[in-house]
Amino acid sequence: MSRLENDFGLLGEEAKAYLDRVHGLHIGGREVATRDSYALCDPTTGREFARAAEAGPDEIDAAVAAARTALNGDWATLRPYERERRLLRLADLLEAHERELSEIETVCSGRLLPNTAGVDVGYSAHVLRYMGGWATKLEGQTARLSVPYIPTGDLQGFTFREPVGVVGAIVPWNVALGIAVWKIAPALAAGCTIVLKPAPQTPLSALRFARLALEAGIPPGVLNIVTGSGPEVGELLVRHPDIAMVSFTGSTEVGRKIAAEAAGQFKRISLELGGKSPVIVMEDAEVAAASEAAAWAIFANHGQNCCAGSRLYVHRSLYGEVIDRVVAIAESIELSAPLLPDAAMGPLVNQAQRQRVLRYVEAGLAEGARLVTGGTAPDHVGAYVRPTVLADAEPQMSSVKDEIFGPVLMAAAFEREEDVLALANDSRFGLGASVWTRDVDRVHRMTRALEVGSVWINVHNALDVALPFGGWKDSGVGNDLSEAAVLAHTRIKASVHHHA
Ligand code: NAP
Ligand code: MG
Repeated sequence: MSRLENDFGLLGEEAKAYLDRVHGLHIGGREVATRDSYALCDPTTGREFARAAEAGPDEIDAAVAAARTALNGDWATLRPYERERRLLRLADLLEAHERELSEIETVCSGRLLPNTAGVDVGYSAHVLRYMGGWATKLEGQTARLSVPYIPTGDLQGFTFREPVGVVGAIVPWNVALGIAVWKIAPALAAGCTIVLKPAPQTPLSALRFARLALEAGIPPGVLNIVTGSGPEVGELLVRHPDIAMVSFTGSTEVGRKIAAEAAGQFKRISLELGGKSPVIVMEDAEVAAASEAAAWAIFANHGQNCCAGSRLYVHRSLYGEVIDRVVAIAESIELSAPLLPDAAMGPLVNQAQRQRVLRYVEAGLAEGARLVTGGTAPDHVGAYVRPTVLADAEPQMSSVKDEIFGPVLMAAAFEREEDVLALANDSRFGLGASVWTRDVDRVHRMTRALEVGSVWINVHNALDVALPFGGWKDSGVGNDLSEAAVLAHTRIKASVHHHA
């Protein structure tokens, strides 16, 4: 068997037993079959390995109704510490099923097992525990009030943080379960219930997770999963009048449509959108560390990260050396099937994504960038693209302006700090940026000047659950993670008590 094709014989018994069938929706704690289903295909061969349900308007209605019932019923009557305990139990269950869930995620997405085990399972358990703790820590204010037109008696004021309502969550395929948990955990901690729509390519980890949530004692209807192969399911969810908040991670184009639709109904939104994040190597950087980090900032997860370091700006004095080092890493990466234990880079999620990435490489070359390595795909049906570096990138190139979402690095040299800040900020996106330097004054200046939601100094793509993560400009609205994500799922009720 070719090293480029997944061998399903490597799967553990649990994943094997789970995969090969038609997967229904998860509504009100039950699996719900639909008339139509669509194929899930292995990114390394294009072959079907399972099917998922096509939800229609009736099923979306049923899922939202189940979430509403749970919102005002079983979930509302649980005390905060009981909600917390169930989220903690779910974290334990997730870890106990690490192999099964990471294999399911890897088979659907083509991502490497250490990545799906580390991020979608391990990190998700951490997020569930952190967010579970917030259930018991949502506080309001108290005040002695004045209300001048009520001159007698004593007036006391209170505020309560109440759940905003049923959340419609829509997530992409690039870190499917991980991002789903970023949405689910703060919503549940705040007392909301959820209808989640996974990306069509990667529905199975969320469906499996929903069963574990039941096992953890999270009541039926609190978490519902609806799947489908096209944008209709997401559109129906966004439009549904009983959805109070839309929590979305995905492309800027879809985020813009969601924002417009939600505005008409005054729905709360949280949008984590695309990025084109710069990695900036200053002349005083530690070259080996910066180069290695720059390589993995773009090649990790095959470039399919929202905050991938897809633009590399290197001070002219180090440009040649850094490019050489990044290229050496790129050329050391062997493409292989992600179920292989020693795989270093697998395929992209599907053929459409491969074509898109290769088109951007072609455009970059046509616009005058210089190919240093990669730029091609193996002659194989799998959705592979070789790690690619294009040098001498210019700001007006489409491959520099747009998010490619593949293992393609656009590199350029700069002379002065103010020049690189202008280059870095010359983007419609504002998700993240990293700076490699040992100069403390420069750290302060550049951190202030960069127009992004996350600045990383001597590290790239370091996301902690205790810090808010969100984009500026076309990279989004609102934040995932941290207290900010929990509060975003609450609305304030002010209450006045009059004592005669
Ligand atoms: P996408 O095309 O925007 O799709 C994301 C999700 O939205 C999918 O579930 C998709 O389902 C659904 N969708 C599509 N059209 C919709 C509509 N009109 N209404 C409601 N839902 C709709 O993004 P993708 O290609 O899957 O993922 C890659 C993108 O996600 C990149 O731009 C990446 O930067 C971004 N991302 C951002 C972050 C972040 O935190 N900022 C993290 C990860 C990824 P269908 O495919 O069935 O239409
Ligand atoms: Mg899409």
